[in-house]
Amino acid sequence: TREIHLASRPEGMPTAENFALVNQSLAPLADGQVLIKNLWMSVDPYMRGRMVDRKSYVPPFALNQVLEGGAIGEVIASKNSDFPVGTKVSSMLGWREHAVTDTAGLTALPQTELDSSHFLGVLGMPGMTAWTGLTRITDLKAGETLFVSAASGAVGSVACQIGKLMGARVIASVGSDEKAELLRSYGVDAIINYKTCGNLTQALTKAAPEGIDVYFENVGGEHLAAALSNMKDHGRIAVCGMISQYNDTAPTPGPDNLALIVMRKLKLEGFIVSEHWAHYPEFAVKMAQWLAEGKVKAEQTIYQGLEQAPDAFIGLFEGKNRGKMLVKLA
Ligand code: NDP
Repeated sequence: TREIHLASRPEGMPTAENFALVNQSLAPLADGQVLIKNLWMSVDPYMRGRMVDRKSYVPPFALNQVLEGGAIGEVIASKNSDFPVGTKVSSMLGWREHAVTDTAGLTALPQTELDSSHFLGVLGMPGMTAWTGLTRITDLKAGETLFVSAASGAVGSVACQIGKLMGARVIASVGSDEKAELLRSYGVDAIINYKTCGNLTQALTKAAPEGIDVYFENVGGEHLAAALSNMKDHGRIAVCGMISQYNDTAPTPGPDNLALIVMRKLKLEGFIVSEHWAHYPEFAVKMAQWLAEGKVKAEQTIYQGLEQAPDAFIGLFEGKNRGKMLVKLA
């Protein structure tokens, strides 16, 4: 079987040389174990943080070892009666085509009409992140104005759609007109292409003349500064991610208007979705219903084959994806 190892730690933007495609033989199955053939693997921005050797909320990836990440696979051999052959499972055993494993880290997927890949996107971690930020962190209310950055991505595209379903006026920022088109099809009220709009703060003022109640922060830097300048008094910010800084090689200067947090009495709250996982069943029921009713659409960008996984990962930082970035393995 084949797997991808971290060959060296990236400095700045990751490159193909940071990854190695390695042939590996599989260990024989022990009692209680299963052999999984992976069908899909996820690439996510947080993996960039794990490529750096430092303490964080998840341990760093080890050099010259297989990488880890979300995956959906099928059990093709089993010595565990709870996971018979044919069971579809989600795991953190991504970046590899097969895995021989104990079943502690496996979750059997529920029976559904939906393609199993959606458990890595709209029905999985990114969808849950969008829902958590809006319902549990900022408590978005009908009639409020919501601003979402990286709005066409895995988290952002779901945040925009849930925002509309919750009755908010939604403003989105994206990096291309093609992405703007996708959001228009979701009924998003105003869309800013941050690459062509000129002054982002002014563009946001034009889109939200009365100000922003809730900002779903995915980007950091200029986006945070522009949002702060446009927040209403007592506005709330769910600090989900700051992707514009993940490849920085020097400390990033903060926005120069942080004093607005005081003057406008803002509430900023960072969150990590895994801490909210006890609420996943509540989210999953809701999202499955929205998907079945066609109220939420699940966009995906798919790269083919394990050898494409590094390109798919790097593509996240180049804006190559609309919706969830995925690698199809089989
Ligand atoms: P996306 O699917 O949104 O992919 C990344 C997108 O970010 C790109 O398509 C690109 O879109 C945009 N982007 C990349 N670089 C920049 C930049 N320099 N400036 C502005 N936009 C940029 O990824 P996810 O939806 O998986 O993640 C979105 C954010 O949410 C990330 O910050 C991630 O770390 C965070 N996150 C946090 C979680 C948590 O628990 N707190 C859980 C999951 C994700 P464009 O073309 O529009 O620039």
